[in-house]
Amino acid sequence: MSLQSESNFAVERDSLRRFIFEQLPVQGRHVHLDASWRAVLEHQDYPAAVRNLLGEACTASALLAATLKFDGMLTLQIRGGASVPLLVVQCTSGFNLRGLAHWRGDADQAAGLKSLVGDGQLAITIEQNQKVERYQGIVPLEGATLSACLESYFQRSEQLPTRLWLNADRDSAAGFLLQAMPDHENNADAWQHVTVLADTLKPAELGGLPAQALLHRLYHEDDVRLFGAAPVAFRCQCSRARIEATLRGLGAAEVRGIVSELGKVHVDCEFCGRGYDFDKVDVEGLFASAPMATTPAQLH
Ligand SMILES: [Zn+2]
Repeated sequence: MSLQSESNFAVERDSLRRFIFEQLPVQGRHVHLDASWRAVLEHQDYPAAVRNLLGEACTASALLAATLKFDGMLTLQIRGGASVPLLVVQCTSGFNLRGLAHWRGDADQAAGLKSLVGDGQLAITIEQNQKVERYQGIVPLEGATLSACLESYFQRSEQLPTRLWLNADRDSAAGFLLQAMPDHENNADAWQHVTVLADTLKPAELGGLPAQALLHRLYHEDDVRLFGAAPVAFRCQCSRARIEATLRGLGAAEVRGIVSELGKVHVDCEFCGRGYDFDKVDVEGLFASAPMATTPAQLH
């Protein structure tokens, strides 16, 4: 095994690394979130099951954002779940991520993905900066785990065998992805070989080992090239301008009604907790020459 990049776990937290097998038609990525994940949790007190699902979604969004070939953003969204009606995670191509979940009272009793988000849908949206077009893929949440649901998304969208292993707890979140290369049919045993070994990963190993140690643990007999670490950070894209667009979308009557009742409109960003205030003068300015906005209310 030749690992061409020096690894130090202290600097590898909050980072994503790619790797390839030199002799096998398989590539992969590893991501580890620490401070970035705890920043996602800072403004909400989630039940453990919702928190862990959100953490898995955060790591998955970074693993998927690593496939973007342009400056843009990937949004992973779960809608319509029984106990989790909404879960949104966004990660930019530069690995700035944010996320939130809404849950109902019984979510802390939920066991497994089905009872959390049964009957819901998983949507993956890819947007390129400065472009209107976007790509959206939707898959039903039929798998037993978020990994399984994402694997069926890959099967439909990229048609390349792809497997994910995700793990999250209160302190950190980690993910590991393997994907067959387009010429993988010439070596079917290779895919079997790398995935059987990855299935032996224990959650503690996925969450606790840096990429180099994890790859050595699984593939010490293979020739793996590990690339340098890309930093991942929590960063919210909310801004006063985006909140203004949301308020315009609500309509003048409703927003003026809030101002006359409360004296101002106060909006807290659900992703980062930052507060925005709009007094009577601000609100009148908003509706003086405003086009209608289409920003969804929960995405500032
Ligand atoms: Zn924010």
